[in-house]
Amino acid sequence: MRYPKREITIRIKDPRLRKVRNEFRKLFWTAAEQKIMEFQRLIDSATASRSYWDSSDPLYTSLRYEDSLYHGEQEKLIIAQRDSITWCSHCYSFEKDMVFRPAHTIWWCTECSAKIPDIIP
Ligand SMILES: [Zn+2]
Repeated sequence: MRYPKREITIRIKDPRLRKVRNEFRKLFWTAAEQKIMEFQRLIDSATASRSYWDSSDPLYTSLRYEDSLYHGEQEKLIIAQRDSITWCSHCYSFEKDMVFRPAHTIWWCTECSAKIPDIIP
């Protein structure tokens, strides 16, 4: 994942635009959650299917490979969701202006960001 190299603050003053921003954040979050759950169902299915096969069987190896692909894709999505601007990773708010500090590689709301020296040196 590529992160900005300098501190960035994103503020939206217009209440209507804030509402649109917040709805997009929730939409992104919900879509990511659904996809993560979909990967989990595929992982569970591959794991259950593997239990019917001996580990020396090529189908077992194929299912194990399939399982690892789903795990990889799921992990990428979880990281993208975690590191996204959609939420404050400290107070979990989806509705505040956000600040990115390169040293921490995460987005925090402006309120939590003001407390960063108290939270993380
Ligand atoms: Zn916060």
